Amino acid sequence: MSLEITDLNVSIGPISILRDINLTIPTGQMAGLIGHNGAGKTTLIRAVMGLLPATSGSIRFKGEELTQLAPYRRAKLQVSYMPEDRRLIPELTVTENMLMPAWANRIGDGKERLEWVYSLIPEIADFGERKALQLSGGQQKLVALGRALIPGRELILLDEPFEGVAPVLAQRLSAVIADLRGEGLTVLIAESDDSHSANLVDKTWRIERGTVSFGRKENATSNSQQQHTA
Ligand code: ATP
Repeated sequence: MSLEITDLNVSIGPISILRDINLTIPTGQMAGLIGHNGAGKTTLIRAVMGLLPATSGSIRFKGEELTQLAPYRRAKLQVSYMPEDRRLIPELTVTENMLMPAWANRIGDGKERLEWVYSLIPEIADFGERKALQLSGGQQKLVALGRALIPGRELILLDEPFEGVAPVLAQRLSAVIADLRGEGLTVLIAESDDSHSANLVDKTWRIERGTVSFGRKENATSNSQQQHTA
């Protein structure tokens, strides 16, 4: 069961932000969503998460119409997202931050899920007793990714996961995201350019001024082929 967005329109107040969005990610695949600042990436992710209402159109996952579901119902569908600004609670320890979604969503197997995330990202267990505010920005991104994975074992939306992250940690984040493929997750990676996601994704969607255009795999090879044939 894929994520299927059909003819989606989203307005914020009187302003139309997303227009007639059509985008599909087959189950277990990774897609890039590439667009400049202000193109509408965060708005699209927030709409899937139910944090912004759709004016019209449909967002379907696992047979459910997400536009009709209250935001908290996504945890049961194992749908989650990683916000661009991480939103860790600075004064809490990393472990407490990690357990927060399990507590908030009354996820019964929170401890098992925590172990699963630690197996994917062992660094988080190493940071465990540190307060979130003591971590670097890149380390916080790793923790935010791990935290999103606690409720999001089926569909995860990553909002600019590499933004502002030093190269070594960006590589590490890339490796972790690549591993999610083996875990069967369906993944959307929003980025302002495809420099990090090109090698990870099956398909790239472009978003420009609230409109998504064709999807194709964009990587260095296809770009250079285009240049040769142009
Ligand atoms: P960025 O990385 O800069 O967040 P983005 O592609 O995620 O870029 P969005 O944050 O989705 O873009 O913003 C899309 C458009 O919606 C922008 O023109 C932005 O100004 C507008 N917008 C976003 N939030 C609001 C809001 N609360 N009120 C009014 N307009 C908004």
